[in-house]
Amino acid sequence: MDEKYEYKVRQVEKDLSKEFRFGEGRISGVASLALGILSLLAVLAYLYPSHLTTTELRQIYDAEQLQIVLKYGMYFSLFLGVLTFLLNKAKYKALGMCGIGLTLLAFTLGGYNVPVGPVEPKALSLGVDWLILAFMGSVFIFLILEKLFPQYRNQLIMRPEWDMDMFYFCFNHLAISAILLFANYHTSHFSWAVSPSVQATIQSVPVWVQFIVIVLCADFVLYWEHRLYHEVTSLWHIHAVHHSVEHMDWLAGSRAHFIQVFSERAMVMVPLYLLGPDEAALNAYVAFAALQAILIHSNLSIPFGPLKYIFVTPQFHHWHHSSEKPALDTNYSAHTILFDVMFKTMHMPGKHWPAEFGTTVRLPASVIGHLLYPLVANMKKLKKRTLR
Ligand SMILES: [Zn+2]
Ligand SMILES: [Zn+2]
Repeated sequence: MDEKYEYKVRQVEKDLSKEFRFGEGRISGVASLALGILSLLAVLAYLYPSHLTTTELRQIYDAEQLQIVLKYGMYFSLFLGVLTFLLNKAKYKALGMCGIGLTLLAFTLGGYNVPVGPVEPKALSLGVDWLILAFMGSVFIFLILEKLFPQYRNQLIMRPEWDMDMFYFCFNHLAISAILLFANYHTSHFSWAVSPSVQATIQSVPVWVQFIVIVLCADFVLYWEHRLYHEVTSLWHIHAVHHSVEHMDWLAGSRAHFIQVFSERAMVMVPLYLLGPDEAALNAYVAFAALQAILIHSNLSIPFGPLKYIFVTPQFHHWHHSSEKPALDTNYSAHTILFDVMFKTMHMPGKHWPAEFGTTVRLPASVIGHLLYPLVANMKKLKKRTLR
């Protein structure tokens, strides 16, 4: 069937009204506003660290060093806001004005000089620090790469529904401590399966070997969890939210029903807990998994060479998101392609990339619609069954 399928090239029409062009004031306006929002959030996180920062993350970064970054961010927001005015396009002035306004408010609240002291850890907090760092990292790494090596050249940064996916991005990062709390609670039910001899063996091997073992074990769990989400209809209605995205980029992977976000982290935590590896291997895995999750959704045409026979790449995962028939229910793996090869669920038709993304049945185009979709779709299914 695969050989007969006629692969097409994806056509993306450029919406000129949403394009960023130099010299219009739009780029500086949006950048000023984004930096204004980030600055205000950062200052609030410095003022209320117990409630607005993540206990696990605080151990990694130096809050005083980051105040230097905040200082530049605030001055850049003001500079770009003023630039928007100088570029003299009336319709983008409001963006620059909001950017300047938010940054001035951040200055009034203490700016980059809020004293940093010991923080009383709270079980539940909002991950404002995680949101800011992940956003800055993603924009600097992936947005720049997407502009340099795009797979879909005409696709814009502000492609359709980017704002909805930005909401999901914010939610998933702000909820980090709730997600970790749930994942730890879930993992605690597996204490009976802990084997000190397995953990001792794992810890006796070099960190890079531990890393490979973690990746493979996590991949096995994620493969089967993902496959169940596709093959059990009531679970598919939850996972369909992730598949409803019709434009792939660094932000697209953020779209997911909160049940999927929580359950995925909880499930992947089990092998990590049972293996009991060194912290260095665990941290390397967390960083690798976070970067790969964004990478595989990105609008990137970087050739991965022989690496594409080992790791899940954008082309591999873009096919997973395709609504074209030969690609449905394929490419479940998250890290390596091993389990898709092993269980014969791989779809990688040479140099072809998908022409269409999304679900075969369209989902409602709103966050509330997504939230209720599993309930509504399952009720519909039940009704059909009782009418039969
Ligand atoms: Zn899927
Ligand atoms: Zn995906």
